[in-house]
Amino acid sequence: MAKMTGAILPGNSTVEFREYNVPEPGERQVLVRMKASTICGSDIRAIYREHLGKGPEGYQGVICGHEPAGQIVKTGKNCRRFKEGERVVLYHISGCGVCHDCRMGYQISCSAPQRAAYGWQRDGGMAEYCLAEEADCVLLPDFLSYIDGACCACGFGTCYEAIRRINVNGDDIALVVGLGPMGLAALMLAKARGASKLIAADIVPERMELVKKLGLADVIIKSDAGALDAIRAATNGRGCEAVIDCSGNTYGRQLAVRGTRQWGRCVFVGEGGTVELNPSPDMIHDQKTLFGSWVTSLGNLEDLVERLPRWNMHPDMTCTHKFSLENVGDAFKLMDEGKCGKVAVVWE
Ligand SMILES: [Zn+2]
Ligand SMILES: [Zn+2]
Repeated sequence: MAKMTGAILPGNSTVEFREYNVPEPGERQVLVRMKASTICGSDIRAIYREHLGKGPEGYQGVICGHEPAGQIVKTGKNCRRFKEGERVVLYHISGCGVCHDCRMGYQISCSAPQRAAYGWQRDGGMAEYCLAEEADCVLLPDFLSYIDGACCACGFGTCYEAIRRINVNGDDIALVVGLGPMGLAALMLAKARGASKLIAADIVPERMELVKKLGLADVIIKSDAGALDAIRAATNGRGCEAVIDCSGNTYGRQLAVRGTRQWGRCVFVGEGGTVELNPSPDMIHDQKTLFGSWVTSLGNLEDLVERLPRWNMHPDMTCTHKFSLENVGDAFKLMDEGKCGKVAVVWE
């Protein structure tokens, strides 16, 4: 039986390798030869440092990586749509398929016992092959690279959902707080949806520098004590119509809400942490709306990969570092330090 190496995360900021049998696709399953597998902030926050996750974020010692893209090399019985040779990205959660959340395409919210996220409760993308349900595959257009696809599996998909949730459009000045990979995605997608001006805020100089280098924002602000004044100075004193918090940080979230203009919309997409707000001055008196947005639906992921070519947009431009699987430990370490864009493991 053919063997492959897979990476697991023991939870003490290390990576371990194990040997596995190359899986055999069963009924309506496909075997995907991995081509790119990117690291998500939640891999670091909830698995790599320590196993913090509970329920849907509980890590069960499987092959890690929930942003897999690759090529189908084998199909199981009764596949209905996908064929050998096709390039796919995986929507990173398998749902039960029959609950209301699954029927809406939000397998992320499926609460049936069958629900399993790749890289959390079932084997994910950090191995040469990944066994996937046909139903979780999304066809990758030729225009998109495998790294583009991997970036969409969680990160860009999650940002696209958040940006649609607050309906970013040409009337808006958009503010993005937190300039990790999610923040970079939010800036690109806000621009694609027509935002007329983009303001970016972070505290980490390397991240601010990367946004500048990639040309993703019109104004880059250091999120220190003077940040709110700087946002007002860039918006005729009024703040921003559409705001996306990718920081997951209490001060970042305060800046996001306070940087939202009267009648504006703000969405929290960065995870973890807490926030303290003063509802009357921060929200109520200025008629603001605050949204939460978690991951995306299978349908919206499909919409995103269809539209990226139309926008002539490659998510892989946010990828600053590539590693081979044997060096995936260095990839996680780099991502943990946060002084990088998207980090990818790639195969020939
Ligand atoms: Zn993720
Ligand atoms: Zn379900």
